Amino acid sequence: MIDAGNLAKTYGAKEILKDVTFSIPDGEIFGLIGPSGSGKSTLLRLLDLIEMPTAGTLSILGEDALSEKTRFRLRRRMAMLYQKPVIFNLSVYENVAMGMKYRKESQATIEGRVKEALDQIGLPEYARRSAKTLSGGEAQRVALARALVTDPEILFLDEPTANLDPLSAEKIEEIILRLNHDEGMTLVLSTHDMLQGQHLAGRIGVVMEGRIPQIGSTVEIFHKPATKNIARFVQVDNIFPGTITANQAGEASIDVGGTIFRAISPAQPGKDVNVLFRAEDVTIGTGEDPVTSARNVYQGRIKHLEPSGPFVRVIIDCGIDITALVTIRSAEDLNLGYGREVWISVKATAIHVIPLQE
Ligand code: ADP
Ligand code: MG
Repeated sequence: MIDAGNLAKTYGAKEILKDVTFSIPDGEIFGLIGPSGSGKSTLLRLLDLIEMPTAGTLSILGEDALSEKTRFRLRRRMAMLYQKPVIFNLSVYENVAMGMKYRKESQATIEGRVKEALDQIGLPEYARRSAKTLSGGEAQRVALARALVTDPEILFLDEPTANLDPLSAEKIEEIILRLNHDEGMTLVLSTHDMLQGQHLAGRIGVVMEGRIPQIGSTVEIFHKPATKNIARFVQVDNIFPGTITANQAGEASIDVGGTIFRAISPAQPGKDVNVLFRAEDVTIGTGEDPVTSARNVYQGRIKHLEPSGPFVRVIIDCGIDITALVTIRSAEDLNLGYGREVWISVKATAIHVIPLQE
């Protein structure tokens, strides 16, 4: 449905996007996640054909999207929702009908389409309302109705809930999922919020400094980030540089400042690597002896406890500082506190090894 090959965009001498390559099949929700300033909005403007790339190829709905001839026609088959709703001081009906402005349709067709669009966003009674009176969440839904009124085959959403309260954001997310599930609409969504990426997207492309260094399922991106920067962005707490000291049948031993980790990796002795594992994958025990068959078991002392919603981040000094994430309830049950001696364990399969330079 969308095929981008080595897309690049420069503004003046500034290279904003470089070597961006991906494919999005029909009916997918594709998420672009990345920090602000990484190039997500610029990429969406290229895909929506509002701006031209400086280099690369782009095919959309089976047509060459960069040719003058197809461009105009393709634009009519796609729509975009922006982070800040653009709402005019008119009725909701007129705000939505504006999406049909340049299409020579009869009044009856337009009325029918506006009604359908208002149904799609769950505000069927709002046509006569003055748009001024809408809450932020409702205004964004009306802006979404304006995008939907032309019945687009591809919908782009640029951080659609970044300015909304959690409940309004949830409502927009529900509509997005419904458009995809019930109508098979292809959606491309950008967000700096990796949790939203996880809720919504089937696959994710990570945007970093104008490139897409990794594309994969949320599980792959969260547990097997391809680079240290991606690992940081998806909040992998435990990132340690080390050196492979042995590899036996695909089980590597990695020396991290004297602490040895075992991980499933083909990396060979002598190679410098980064060892990554999520705090959720660290188990804490408090008995005399570790009760586990896990490969990586260490003894340490709790150095810091940091509440985070219903969880607590526990930092344990085991020679190196290892972070574990446990529920507040289990922290209480285990009687975890500053200075407490504990065991921790991490399964070899939970440890991800990447080359040091990445
Ligand atoms: P994101 O949406 O991921 O926050 P953007 O695509 O908005 O990132 O911006 C990426 C980079 O491109 C930023 O450094 C931004 O300042 C720059 N940029 C965006 N638009 C323009 C423009 N029209 N002219 C010059 N620089 C731009
Ligand atoms: Mg942006």
